[in-house]
Amino acid sequence: MFNNLSDKLDKALHVLKGHGKITEVNVAETLKEVRRALLDADVNFKIAKEFTVRVKEKALGQNVLTTLNPGQLMVKLVKDELAELMGGETAGVNLTGTPTVILMAGLQGSGKTTFSGKLANYLKTKKNKQVLLVGADVYRPAAINQLQVVGEQIGIEVYAEVENKNPVEIAQNAIAHAKANGKNTVIIDTAGRLAIDEALMTEISNIHKAVNPQETLFVVDSMTGQDAVNTAKAFNDLLNFDGVVLTKLDGDTRGGAALTIKSVVNKPIKFIGTGEKMEAIDVFYPERMADRILGMGDVVSLVERAQEQYDEEEARKLQKKIAKDQFGFDDFLNQIQQIKKMGNMKDLVGMIPGAGKALKDVDIDDDAFKGIEAIIKSMTPLERTEPKVINASRKKRIAKGSGTSITEVNQLLKQFFQMSKMMKMMQGGGSRKMMQMMQG
Ligand code: GDP
Repeated sequence: MFNNLSDKLDKALHVLKGHGKITEVNVAETLKEVRRALLDADVNFKIAKEFTVRVKEKALGQNVLTTLNPGQLMVKLVKDELAELMGGETAGVNLTGTPTVILMAGLQGSGKTTFSGKLANYLKTKKNKQVLLVGADVYRPAAINQLQVVGEQIGIEVYAEVENKNPVEIAQNAIAHAKANGKNTVIIDTAGRLAIDEALMTEISNIHKAVNPQETLFVVDSMTGQDAVNTAKAFNDLLNFDGVVLTKLDGDTRGGAALTIKSVVNKPIKFIGTGEKMEAIDVFYPERMADRILGMGDVVSLVERAQEQYDEEEARKLQKKIAKDQFGFDDFLNQIQQIKKMGNMKDLVGMIPGAGKALKDVDIDDDAFKGIEAIIKSMTPLERTEPKVINASRKKRIAKGSGTSITEVNQLLKQFFQMSKMMKMMQGGGSRKMMQMMQG
């Protein structure tokens, strides 16, 4: 996420390292680089300029008051300003309606349908809502199909009227259907066009007036940079929407949309999309995003994700197994599956402080575990529970069965034994033993 911007800001802020105190000269040098980094990220000139002016004022006002070194102080000032630019306080969604109606607006291809599914899934699993998805795109039958596929995947009912060409009517009927069927949340996915046109704007405006939604969310593809900002402005002038959803932040986006949209439309970014899967949705926290941009990681989100996957019962069972030396490859596979549920790998690695930068050129993808899974799946049940029996001929068979090499099988076995040993030590009051081991 925002690799390029992160890199450039990092370099800019390094200029100040090694200087004893903040002076007008080194602040000016640093801020020139910061401004250049923002412009390269597709932030518009005026916003980039105001940004650096504000940081400069704060920096020069604090030169003697602080015990931090200048580098750290500047990092903090830039971080606070970035967070402020992206929205300051975190904004939730209003779910108080009976039913709550959420209207999705945006251009075709922005990720509206995908996001409607993600949001439905999020509200169902995290907020315990009974959700109805509504397909109000009367021009593209494929769009309704797509929504139906999504709905099936996440177990959420999709309301559509294939014969009806009136989206306002469909939306109204859907709300009546929701009321009659005990659904307290209605998410309406509307039609989009490739560019803003009058017909699209009139239609969405009519739906908006007719259903009077609690939340109107504008969905925009973050890869489109300044275009995203212009589109947002047009939709906001018409709908006075409540919040923005930035999609495709997992891609190689420069960051301009994320950084400027709030200051142009004065509406908060509420959610981000970070992948094609239904789980790839995050509530947007400006502060945490600023941390990530400056390479400080996002430990809070990482821990939250881990907690979401944590099952106390399972953890207890696992502990017993480790204590009895019964931790096997099935448990290992299980652990991998848990990690995978936490989100896409690149995203997770980016949340570890420093790791995003260190590993930015390493190609981490969701297939990272594929080889390991294939190897484990080629093992017999005995080999999985008693990995010690895996001798040379078994290794050969496993490598062949999984389409890997004996070296890879050996590597996995080695990692597995190391991990088992470590887990056992950590359990048996062994932090002392661990320390001894690490010391030599
Ligand atoms: P719509 O026309 O606005 O409904 O857009 P879709 O939901 O059909 O999305 C367009 C394309 O973008 C699809 O191929 C989606 O899989 C993809 N997409 C949507 N959201 C994301 C995201 O957050 N990350 C990535 N990488 N792809 C996404």
